[in-house]
Parts: sequence; structure tokens; C-alpha cells
Amino acid sequence: MTETKLNLSVTGHWIDGREARTGNSVTDIVNPATGTTVASVPDGTAQDVDRAVDAARAALPGWASTSPADRARAMQNLADRLTERSEEVAIAVSAEIGAPITLARFGHAALPPAVAASVAGLAAEFPWSEEIANSLVVREPVGVVGAITPWNFPLQQIMTKMAPALLAGNTMVWKPAELAPLTARILAEAARDAGIPAGVFNVVYGRGSVVGEAIVGHPGVDMVSFTGSTAVGKRISVLASETVKRVGLELGGKSASVVLDGADLGLAVERTLASAWTNSGQVCGAWTRMIVPADRRDEVVDLLGKAAEQYTVGDPADETTRIGPVASEAQWNRVNGYIERGVADGATVVVGGPGRIPGLEHGAYIRPTVFADVDPDSVIAQEEIFGPVLSVLTYENEEEAVSIANNSIYGLAGAVFGEPEHALRIAKRMQTGQVDVNGAQFNVLAPFGGYKQSGNGREFGRLGVEEFTEVKSIQR
Ligand code: NAD
Repeated sequence: MTETKLNLSVTGHWIDGREARTGNSVTDIVNPATGTTVASVPDGTAQDVDRAVDAARAALPGWASTSPADRARAMQNLADRLTERSEEVAIAVSAEIGAPITLARFGHAALPPAVAASVAGLAAEFPWSEEIANSLVVREPVGVVGAITPWNFPLQQIMTKMAPALLAGNTMVWKPAELAPLTARILAEAARDAGIPAGVFNVVYGRGSVVGEAIVGHPGVDMVSFTGSTAVGKRISVLASETVKRVGLELGGKSASVVLDGADLGLAVERTLASAWTNSGQVCGAWTRMIVPADRRDEVVDLLGKAAEQYTVGDPADETTRIGPVASEAQWNRVNGYIERGVADGATVVVGGPGRIPGLEHGAYIRPTVFADVDPDSVIAQEEIFGPVLSVLTYENEEEAVSIANNSIYGLAGAVFGEPEHALRIAKRMQTGQVDVNGAQFNVLAPFGGYKQSGNGREFGRLGVEEFTEVKSIQR
């Protein structure tokens, strides 16, 4: 197994444009493919959060008074600086979460600068002020934004907050995920090199229960933007209510891929399996429930078995690997437990199953799994597994297909495969924030966010910028 070479030494937080030394306590970052420690980052405290919030508050008036055009230039510069460092980003993400290096390059490293550039392009047309009858309606920054993010796409998750929040004139304090903080320093340096003033973007490493809660409860933080699990999102909502902060929540999912009569089954299988398994299934919007006509069940299962053979599991540093380990041993135990539960509840194992992969026992490798004959109310059909596990469910008629798709506490993403107009009608009936028809391309300008317990906000594009603005009406 190749151990990825990391050239990162993180001995302090990033506060007011430079490294801020702190106590001696650190968190080790472990490569889940090898179990070895690849780096360590400081364990932050509430006092570190105080310092970061002070820096963000001090920088706020200056940054908020720059023009949107200047801030847009800064976001484009940020995109350019990050693109220059994309190989470092790919190596860091591959080492900390075990992402295959090819996916790390084309997904984890390339998407964040594309998002920053897309946000820069919005500034000229954004309604910073508009006339409504006798009112002048202006959009202003909310203030200091506290951002808290998960580990599954470490740089991407912060970029969908940072670029719009900074474009709108806010300043920020960010806590990256404990498991995957290694791109935070690269991002902070890229922001400095892009000409973003000191104090506008600050990073405090540490645990959710300490640093995360200090950010959420801080009276100097005006808004919390959170991406992560629904359970933690609920806790954050409760804590933030004490200071009536605005809270943006991007939470979990259990998305459905609905296959209609008349669908191209080959396409539906290829795209649905890719959605469910990419990044070892650690994708909030993954389509993990494939809902197919009962009389096409055997055909779909056969195609899934064949498609699964294309997925090589192994060393993330190998450019031909399509699936690496899951992000940690804890995650392995959790996901493997769900696979055992699926078997115990009577689902049919089409591919994979519980247990370690022969030859890959030393790392957190899950056997990528497809289940068929899954009961729509069973645990594996209802709970977010966050691992490479796809469940096939069947329906007798279209009403049942829609009802199974909507039978979830979540509503983040989804797919429909079928004749285009028919598929569009079904897409409109799905209670979810995004639906892709016939495997359509991801759009960085389209709002992304959840219905139901998948969240309450929208990221990406113009609506993503609106999230980070206050609205003032001035009557004249
Ligand atoms: P998590 O909720 O455990 O942790 C997310 C972040 O919250 C981490 O930085 C963590 O340290 C912090 N945190 C934990 N407890 C906290 C507390 N009490 N107060 C403040 N912060 C706290 O999630 P995870 O395991 O890192 O990520 C996986 C989850 O994220 C999945 O549910 C996935 O669906 C979700 N997710 C959602 C989206 C989306 O856009 N909707 C995107 C990616 C991931």
C-alpha cells in the first residue's frame, strides 16, 4: 500500500491572516487506508473561538464596505490560487478520508474553485438593491458567519459557504471536521494570496462539542451555516435559538432514483450505482434507493451485478482505483452494521455483503453492496447509511413509486429515469430539493438543499448568496 506524502504542518489555527499558536493538545489525522497518522492539527478551545470571532468582527466593517465587484474579483482570485494548489488538495483529501486519487483530483480538488468562480460571476446581476414601489430594498451582509462542515467533501463543503458569504460582505469563522481538516490551511493561505484581507476568513480546528458549540453559542456570531448530520443540525438549532441566530442547515439524505416504464435501464443502472457508490457512498445526495417496476426487477438486478464489476476497490493512491476505504474505522463499523442489518431483515444480497475484503483487511474497506427485495419501511431503506450500499425496491404502479420515493424523513436529492416529459411530471411530485432527469449534469448555479429533515437552506448560485444577506426596506 502506498503511503501518500503530505507536506503539511499545522501547528496553529488561522486567525487574523496568520497562524495562531495555541495549547499543546492535538488531534491526529489517520489515513483510513493504512491506519497510519499522516498529520495532526490543534485541538481548539472556546478561547480560540473568542480570538477568531474578535478578528472577524474587526475585519467586518472594512470588508462589508468594499464593492461587490471588488469582492467578486477576490473570489475569482481565490479560485485561481486554489487551482494552482489542486494537487496538494487532492493529496491531502486522499490521505485524510481515503478518497481515490483520481476522484480527489476531479471532484474534491476541481469542484471548489469552479464554485468560487461561479459565485464571482453572480455579482454583476445580483439584486444588491432594488426599487419596490416607494421602497428601496437593499441586501446587506448578515455579519460574522460561523461555518461548521463535515468530512465527506472537506474543501467543497466550506466553499459553498465561503464564496457566497464573502461575496455578500460577511466575514467568517470556520470549524472544519475533525477527521478531515488538512485542506483548511491551504484554503486560508489561498485566501490570503488572493488578496482577501486578514480577519475576513478564520479557521479554528477542534471538536464539535467544544469549538462547534462555542461558535454556535457565541454572541459575536450572527449566523451559523452548518452542513452535517440531521442529529447535530437539531442540536445546533436548539443552541442557536438562545441568541436567535439565523441558522442554515444542510443535512442528511436518503434519496430515491425512480425508474419508470420506458426508461433506459442501462443508463439508470450505471448512473444510480455511480451515485450510490462514489466517494465510498459518503455523499449526502447519493441515490441510495433504486425504485424499479416489479416486472423489471430481475433485469435491473442482473445489470447492477454486471455494472458492479467495473468498480475496483483498493489503494486510494492507485490511479485505477474507483472505491477506497470509508473515512474511518468508526465509519466502517457503522456501515458494516447496516449491511448486517439488511441481511438480518431479509434483503437479498446481490453484490457485496458484510465483512472485510480479502487482502484489504488492514484498512477501513467496506464491501460495496447492492441489496434487492428491500422493504421500504426497513432500517436500510429508511436510515442514512453513508457508505457504498444501494437498495433496490419494487413498485406495482406509478402512485406506489411516488409514495415509496417520498416515504422518508429526508428530501435532499433524487433522480427519475424515463421518457423525458413523463419523468419531469414525476420529478415535480417528489418531495426533495433536487431531482436529476435521465442522469442530467450537476449544475453549480442550481440551488441545492433539503426538504423535510434534510435541512432548511439552499446553497449554490444566486439563492446561495441570498442565504448570507439581510434585507432592509427603506420607504421614501
Ligand atoms: P456530523 O454532524 O457528525 O458533523 C458535522 C460537523 O459538525 C463536524 O465538523 C462536527 O465536528 C460538528 N459537530 C458535531 N457535534 C457538534 C455540536 N454539538 N455542535 C456544533 N458542531 C458539532 O456529520 P459528519 O459525520 O461529519 O458528516 C456526515 C453527515 O453530513 C451526513 O449526515 C451527510 O448527509 C451530511 N452532509 C450533508 C450535506 C448537505 O449538503 N446536505 C453535505 C455533506 C454531508
